[in-house]
Amino acid sequence: MKRILMIATGGTIASKETAEGLAPALSSQELLACVPEVAKACSVQTVQPFNLDSTNVRAGHWLDIARIIEENYDGFDGFVVTHGTDTMAYTAAALSYLVQNSAKPIVLTGSQKSVYSRDTDARKNLTDAFLFCADDRAFGVRIVFDGSVILGTRAKKTRTRSYNAFSSIDYPAVAVMREGAPFYYIEWEKPASPPVFYRALNENVFVLKMIPGLRADIFDYLDGHCDGLVIESFGAGGLPNYENDAFRARLSRFLSLGKTAVLTTQVEREGSALDTYAVGRKLRSCGPVLEARCMTLEATVAKLMWILSFAKGKDAEKLFYTPVERDIF
Ligand code: ASP
Repeated sequence: MKRILMIATGGTIASKETAEGLAPALSSQELLACVPEVAKACSVQTVQPFNLDSTNVRAGHWLDIARIIEENYDGFDGFVVTHGTDTMAYTAAALSYLVQNSAKPIVLTGSQKSVYSRDTDARKNLTDAFLFCADDRAFGVRIVFDGSVILGTRAKKTRTRSYNAFSSIDYPAVAVMREGAPFYYIEWEKPASPPVFYRALNENVFVLKMIPGLRADIFDYLDGHCDGLVIESFGAGGLPNYENDAFRARLSRFLSLGKTAVLTTQVEREGSALDTYAVGRKLRSCGPVLEARCMTLEATVAKLMWILSFAKGKDAEKLFYTPVERDIF
């Protein structure tokens, strides 16, 4: 029987109604007790490094989860991480960079409704996560939610209330759960070489979302406060050239400080194509501007935090364009 370590971190799935609203309250053991049927498929041990609404989860927590996985890697066949849905896609992306080449599954799940709610999706999601994790063909970082199995680098929360809260962006879901068993749409070989664990992230990454009329003097702040900047521009990608091309001047200066900038789009699907329009192509003259292409924002942010913890300049650029778990094409 497969041995699975459940890493419980909070979220709606572990929440109870309080005077202030829903808040995480259940212990990992209480949560596990809600799905007694998984005992038929696997033996589960639990740990609970924290119990938070995922609004509060940040890079230090991603490192904690990755460290727990590294410390327990040899003792278990897989890992199920229960997590709030709000930032689950960021955590899944971060774990995809922190634990690379894993032939064992690391499965994240959560729910839209508390496990105590009459119409909860918690029991189904948690059961599916364990059953997927116990499957011989499962490996790598995945989100299992509402019956879909989504790559950790491809997930995005796209609904705040419905049960199908997560979408797989610009890549198909790799499998669906049917009556407790995975039905694979895409299968590839498990990694043959050992996993690679990383133990650091650079949190000085900022996302600048463009709105019409935004002024370039926002860089007065950004220059001094971030090492990596993700600019969520419009459409295929570009920056305005009003106010004497101030954005281009400020982006050039930002890059000349040895910092890294990535252009992406605020459009959810199909990614950026920076060379399409003049407002985009001319940014190439600012310096080595990177382009997120079809990467999700979550993966872009997590990948920058990972890369900038140990690389800069050309090395950072090369790593950024090197695919990890189908994050970029
Ligand atoms: N606010 C909750 C969280 O992300 C939402 C959820 O879990 O669905 O922790």
